[in-house]
Amino acid sequence: QAKAAGRHRYAMFSAELNRVAQDRLKFETALRNALASDELQLHYQPQVCLSDGSLHGVEALARWRHPEFGVVPPDRFIPLAEEGGFITELDHWVLRRACRQLAEWRAQWSRDAGADPAAASAAIPHVSVNVSPTSFCDRRLPGLISRTLTAWGLAPGDLVLEVTESVLLDAASGGLATLGEVHRLGVGLSIDDFGTGYSSLSYLHRLPVSELKLDKSFVRELESDEGARALACAVMGIGASLSLDVVAEGVETDAQRTILLAQGCEVAQGYFFARPMPAAELTAWLRSRLAQSVG
Ligand code: C2E
Ligand code: MG
Ligand code: MG
Ligand code: MG
Repeated sequence: QAKAAGRHRYAMFSAELNRVAQDRLKFETALRNALASDELQLHYQPQVCLSDGSLHGVEALARWRHPEFGVVPPDRFIPLAEEGGFITELDHWVLRRACRQLAEWRAQWSRDAGADPAAASAAIPHVSVNVSPTSFCDRRLPGLISRTLTAWGLAPGDLVLEVTESVLLDAASGGLATLGEVHRLGVGLSIDDFGTGYSSLSYLHRLPVSELKLDKSFVRELESDEGARALACAVMGIGASLSLDVVAEGVETDAQRTILLAQGCEVAQGYFFARPMPAAELTAWLRSRLAQSVG
């Protein structure tokens, strides 16, 4: 009887597993389709220069609105795309879309500001795009980047790739080859979530890194934790001595902004300044700031 009960439990367990597998497949198929439809969107979050309030750049963040599942956060669907083997497709889509958007903003800005392309470039200096390790190690990336920049009339400095440290530390991954090519193109390279990975610092001066993003876990504790303050300060020091931009992410309060400014931080990104928003909203946000600074 015990045996029968065991079998029964096993049958239930495997039915449950089956259901989970089916749900996952359904989810994965939906995500693949999202790439082809307009369910996948980009939101853009400003990165603000603390000294004068000017725009340093904008980060593109992927959003998935499914008619049935609702809004699925990237922390859920990025891993799914990775496991499903189409993260590279997704990241390529993001890259093309973000470049197209930057070109459109600048064209619009030129029209508004009386056809001055320099003013348009100054208004939105670059777009940052997150690239997962798999996509970064894919040999097609440099070619795709250079074709996309050319297609939209953008300069290499108009694009920054955000990667995590793991890509640079694993010499076997193929990431280093891409890194060289991307650097030769002149595209910026930013280390995302800096301070949370393995943090072997030796790669920083050997590899063509242009920016560090101080992870939001440190920013969150700036007011309450002396250790977090000390670490943030150390990251500013590394940035200053290696001539790297440091962008503090997840800045939510004026107190955090004040501490960062005192530590010599030049650029910040977070809800205190603006949430990630659809392209049209960012246009309006930029316009209203321009109106304020002129008026
Ligand atoms: P990330 O690149 O480190 O992006 C920063 C995350 O912090 C974003 O979450 C952003 O919305 C959020 N954030 C911004 N300001 C604040 C703030 O003041 N407070 C707090 N608590 N959070 C803030 P999001 O958009 O949910 O993205 C999560 C992660 O998903 C990103 O982390 C990035 O690693 C990944 N991701 C997003 N889009 C893409 C993409 O197109 N490709 C790839 N490979 N990964 C992506
Ligand atoms: Mg990022
Ligand atoms: Mg980050
Ligand atoms: Mg991240």
